[in-house]
Amino acid sequence: MTFATLGLIEPLLRSLETLGYQTPTPVQAQAIPAVLAGRDLMAAAQTGTGKTAGFALPLLQLLALEGPKVTANSVRALILVPTRELAEQVHEAVRQYAENLPLRTYAVYGGVSINPQMMKLRSGVDLLVATPGRLLDLFRQNALKFNQLQTLVLDEADRMLDLGFSEELANIYRALPKKRQTLLFSATFSDDIRLLAGQMLNDPLSIEVSPRNVAANTVKQWIVTVDKKRKPELFVHLMRKGKWKQVLVFAKTRNGVDALVEKLQGLGINADGIHGDKPQATRQRALDRFKASEVQILVATDVAARGLDIEDLPLVVNFDLPIVAEDYIHRIGRTGRAGSTGEAISLVCADEVNLLSAIEMLTRQTLKRQNEPDFEPEHRVPDTDASGQVVKKPKKPKKPKASGGGGGKRNLGKWVDSGEVAPAEPSIKPVRKVPVFNTGPRKRKP
Ligand code: AMP
Repeated sequence: MTFATLGLIEPLLRSLETLGYQTPTPVQAQAIPAVLAGRDLMAAAQTGTGKTAGFALPLLQLLALEGPKVTANSVRALILVPTRELAEQVHEAVRQYAENLPLRTYAVYGGVSINPQMMKLRSGVDLLVATPGRLLDLFRQNALKFNQLQTLVLDEADRMLDLGFSEELANIYRALPKKRQTLLFSATFSDDIRLLAGQMLNDPLSIEVSPRNVAANTVKQWIVTVDKKRKPELFVHLMRKGKWKQVLVFAKTRNGVDALVEKLQGLGINADGIHGDKPQATRQRALDRFKASEVQILVATDVAARGLDIEDLPLVVNFDLPIVAEDYIHRIGRTGRAGSTGEAISLVCADEVNLLSAIEMLTRQTLKRQNEPDFEPEHRVPDTDASGQVVKKPKKPKKPKASGGGGGKRNLGKWVDSGEVAPAEPSIKPVRKVPVFNTGPRKRKP
């Protein structure tokens, strides 16, 4: 199968040739003809599957071939994404695909001045990538009109709900024309997402591609148990021992990111951090420098790192386990891409045993434990397995400790680095508010 047989026009084929895309990925093979035919879409796919091209290519083709010229302050296609970085990334991909088409594309997001965005929107934009909050600001200030809108894309819809954008989505939805095409992409399909899909989509085609980063058999995953307060020390120890060159590290909180970066920099290690409190320009610079290998260790919160496409990353470290088990899949998906091998190491303390158990249940695997001598935790992390069981050993009657000598049996689990692991429902769910949309009857596109 080629992109030409999927019905893409010559200017797009030329762009793809320049980019070196030869064969459509499974999500592209399914999505492109459906979008060109005007269908609504409900697609289970995440970053790394080629989903961006899956919706952007046919969208650009429809914009180039159909519909009126865009008028002042109007937008003809809207791609909603959860984070600023993703807005930049998706827009950059769109810009490259649209290289040979006479279309105007643009990205708007918060954290930067709104005025240049208002100026840019004055002459109208064919395709706009936006985060929900800034889009609403622009709409409320009359910098944007939706009367010409023909297609809406919700990218990483699950993440938008996780981030609390349900209200914004409901408000945006109310402002959009009822007759339009809607494409919904989500890594997971929880009840909330299904509800959203039911309200927003019209007879959608369902597409499911196995999540690349779970199915990938190229990511070696293991954990090291450690006491919470010794995590920074263990990190530095592992880094030196393993001679780590480039690492993406995930920490739970913004403060956690800052503290680790400060500690590493204090040791003369080339580290930087990204999280939601940092100005957008600083975040982007840190990310660009990391991608260019000018920064060795990038520490990030999930919000800042979601969906980022970083090529050839050898190692991901979970300094803290994620609160939402699905984020584990996203995190480790930053490595082992495009056939290369990768490693994902999690530093786990006793407090995190339930999070560990939820991850093992979701990914249906028991993560191998590989403890470091000298870092054996005082607060033991109870054994866990993929059934969601946390095995709490009965407390022994107190007796004076002779030594720390590791007599106890340790569950070494089993290596799971082979494919066919499909995510099950997470056992820990974030609290989400789901919007109630007012869905009037909608006409299908001809
Ligand atoms: P995405 O899942 O959209 O974030 O894409 C992941 C990566 O795959 C990006 O770097 C794309 O440029 C690349 N990519 C997408 N589709 C193809 C394709 N058909 N052939 C080669 N690379 C692709």
